[in-house]
Amino acid sequence: MDLNQSLFDRAQELIPGGVNSPVRAFRSVGGAPRFIERAKGPYMWDVEGKAFIDYVLSWGPMILGHNNPEVVDAVKAAVDNGLSFGAATEGEVRIAQEIVKLVPSIEEVRLVSSGTEAGMSAIRLARGYTGRNKIIKFEGCYHGHSDSLLVKAGSGLLTFGNPSSAGVPASVTEHTLVLEYNNPQQLEDAFRQWGDDIACVIVEAFAGNMNLVRGTQEFIDTMRRLCTEHGALLIVDEVMTGFRVALGGAQSLFNVTPDITMLGKVIGGGMPVAAFGGRRDIMEKVAPCGPVYQAGTLSGNPVAVASGLATLRLIQTPGFYEKLGSQTEKLIAGLTAAAREAGIENFCGDSVGGMFGIYCLPEQPKGFADVMKADQALFNSFFHGMLERGVYFAPSTFEAGFVSITHDDAVIEKTIEAARETFADIAKH
Ligand code: PMP
Repeated sequence: MDLNQSLFDRAQELIPGGVNSPVRAFRSVGGAPRFIERAKGPYMWDVEGKAFIDYVLSWGPMILGHNNPEVVDAVKAAVDNGLSFGAATEGEVRIAQEIVKLVPSIEEVRLVSSGTEAGMSAIRLARGYTGRNKIIKFEGCYHGHSDSLLVKAGSGLLTFGNPSSAGVPASVTEHTLVLEYNNPQQLEDAFRQWGDDIACVIVEAFAGNMNLVRGTQEFIDTMRRLCTEHGALLIVDEVMTGFRVALGGAQSLFNVTPDITMLGKVIGGGMPVAAFGGRRDIMEKVAPCGPVYQAGTLSGNPVAVASGLATLRLIQTPGFYEKLGSQTEKLIAGLTAAAREAGIENFCGDSVGGMFGIYCLPEQPKGFADVMKADQALFNSFFHGMLERGVYFAPSTFEAGFVSITHDDAVIEKTIEAARETFADIAKH
């Protein structure tokens, strides 16, 4: 038996599903997940030494490619000074300064260790600030696995087809309204009915947890206007899109000013850093200044912050996002052309900056219902054909993909060549 399979067998006895986060288990595409040993630039190697071009990139953080030498040096230097103090450090001031500079809607920011914490805390803050209970989220968007947000949540759960999680009392989710993504009329209706009770609207402006689905300008503008009119807060979840779709995040592309922004992934450069931040009068409600409690033993961890700071410095290199965006566009154009060459029409793609979607659909989806129509069998064949040829895409049709600055023309061309072979193979069967 091969080493990977035996590791997976052992893992399944010791860890639920053999994984520490569900989508890693390859449940929807089938087969054993690859156990990864190391990574460098655009490549990962599994325990059997097989190389993969990586388009998951730790689900987004590795925008500089794996193991960027400057980031690794910064982390090593931080490690030499101590792993954790549970006390204030200069690095936290410096990263806060960078975040406030790059995301102008943020005047104050609190670091946490995961996107889930950022979402949970942002919701609590919105409720504490407004004194209201109701929140609005959108079908197919994912903001972490805190209880009040596990209502038809996206990501791994969608893959298993569960509308929500067991173990969450109905009394916790009874305040969460789930509306259709990209449906401004529903928002109008909801605010007409419950406007004075709504604490916040939380949204991924480009959704990345039901594959990539672009929010429309009208949708985002409508929620901003309604929140302002009714005294609700707008929380834009940029855990995935922050420093990924543009240096200023999705909010810079939509020209929208959130009241609270969630960040994660890229701000840690691969280490556990996430954040929530926003207007000063709102953030001043957070403990110890205000009555909204929030805390974390490892929040602002000096090693993680060093990784984040080095990453935030390097993404500000002139031309970085132009190159990242054009490489991603080349990838999507090449994959789509490869499908057409093989006579496969049920395949298309889209990208924003360094984030992309590939869809086994005739056209780009506009919401969750469209995404659900994807040809799962075609996706599974594509996924496994590419994996066999050394290209690692997300093992689910509900996930977005990511490109790093190390995905150069040769890497993209190798990927497209693998896609030509894969699609030709699929067309034969
Ligand atoms: N929000 C969004 C938009 C995300 O994509 C994710 C993670 N995929 C989260 C929140 C939760 O982050 P974490 O997995 O770090 O808890």
